[in-house]
Amino acid sequence: MNIIIFGPPGAGKGTQSKFIVKKYNLFQLSTGDLLRNEIKNKSDVGQKIGSIVNAGSLVSDDIVSKLIENAVNKKEYENRIIFDGYPRNIAQAKNLNLLLNKYDQKISLVLKLTVDLETIKKRVSGRTVCSMCGKIYNKFFNPAPIDSECCSIKYLQTRGDDTVDVAIKRYETYEKQTEPVLNYYKNLDLLKEVNGISPIDHIYKEITDIMSVIEG
Ligand code: AMP
Repeated sequence: MNIIIFGPPGAGKGTQSKFIVKKYNLFQLSTGDLLRNEIKNKSDVGQKIGSIVNAGSLVSDDIVSKLIENAVNKKEYENRIIFDGYPRNIAQAKNLNLLLNKYDQKISLVLKLTVDLETIKKRVSGRTVCSMCGKIYNKFFNPAPIDSECCSIKYLQTRGDDTVDVAIKRYETYEKQTEPVLNYYKNLDLLKEVNGISPIDHIYKEITDIMSVIEG
């Protein structure tokens, strides 16, 4: 099954996606990760989008659409994708529909993690990511284990766009542009809302309960 996971920056999309990927043998397609990779590799695309991403604005639909199609058309990902960070506006939602139809696929479930701005500010300003294994931590809520070789302090990195000011901007962008997309999926009866403020394992349990119903 293909899934979309929604939520403002810092809602826990990345963390929950990683759990879901493992349990259901899916492939996580994070447009944010793909774009950060382009920036890190200083590709042509990366050089164009660096300042846009770091300012918390949206990259052009064309650029993101190409990255998405490169994954949707892969046989090994067929009906096994969890879309994290895409679509982010109505044009992207319609584009995703066309793409999935083209490759004879569909969306089975759209999850929305609901989190308020005050929580987001704390989560984003404390977030660190291990550059070795990709695990996501938070200085305040979920610190990296001190005895871990892999996730030791020398490998923990913060993202360029993880400041409180940029978090507010990204939250506002999310509210303005992404919320209408949620209505689009609500009308298709695919949307399920999950309380993203609960502890990580509670959120995960709620998601797996929803997924077991979908799986039948
Ligand atoms: P994320 O990791 O999903 O929070 O995304 C980080 C940043 O990458 C966003 O603030 C945007 O600048 C850019 N980005 C990620 N996904 C998209 C998308 N679907 N459309 C446009 N820009 C995106």
